[in-house]
Amino acid sequence: MTDSPNTVPNVDAGEIAKFNALAEQWWDPNSQFRPLHDINPLRLNYIDERVSLPGKKVIDIGCGGGLLSEGMARRGANVTGIDMGEAPLAVARIHAEQAGVEVEYLQTPAEKIAEERAGQYDVVTCLEMLEHVPDPSSVIRACATLVKPGGHVFFSTINRNPKAFMFAIVGAEYVLRLLPRGTHEYAKLIKPSELAGWARDAALDVKDTTGMVYNPLTQVYKLNRDVSVNYLMYARKGD
Ligand code: SAH
Repeated sequence: MTDSPNTVPNVDAGEIAKFNALAEQWWDPNSQFRPLHDINPLRLNYIDERVSLPGKKVIDIGCGGGLLSEGMARRGANVTGIDMGEAPLAVARIHAEQAGVEVEYLQTPAEKIAEERAGQYDVVTCLEMLEHVPDPSSVIRACATLVKPGGHVFFSTINRNPKAFMFAIVGAEYVLRLLPRGTHEYAKLIKPSELAGWARDAALDVKDTTGMVYNPLTQVYKLNRDVSVNYLMYARKGD
């Protein structure tokens, strides 16, 4: 039986519907997924530099159309991607097949796969997803359950403060129209301190927090220390 997004507790069916509606454009770098295309090489390098992806067993939580999952598989990782959106998963499967890249894609909630596959993964990634979930701490606990002792966990999301509101919502959705209106809701954005607190509560050690900064003039993203809008967080589970 597949899990319908309407019947799973920690899934917002409205959020899943937003991504289902846009899924066909997922791999078009000039579409509303452009920001994900633009940040993909940066985050792939950030992850690869810390874990050395070749041969690693990786699970990507909230994988969407598979930009990160497929990117990690191309770098030699053995990747499973999970999401609750049927359409993004269908797009991800077709893209991987056409590209000749092997990725296991499953429609299942993080909490459920964590019960089934506890401690099986070297690396867990959960990028640009937590701000779409009713209870992010529950997904973070699931990530901590999935990773092996000594393994690596990566999160990314958007900070919650007036500058993040201006850049990530007003700027990106209304002025530059990089993203559809309503993609992000201010109240669901997550401060690094909150994310770090939930990670620590799940027995993860936070090792690094890095900003992903967009320059609207050059239209280029860079990684740096400014975590005031978009950011990545890297944590490890103790041995
Ligand atoms: N992680 C991908 C996609 C980000 S878009 C990337 O960074 O490239 C956010 C994704 O989270 C969407 O595909 C959406 O369907 C998924 N999502 C939202 N809530 C979810 C939930 N509760 N469980 C699983 N996936 C979810």
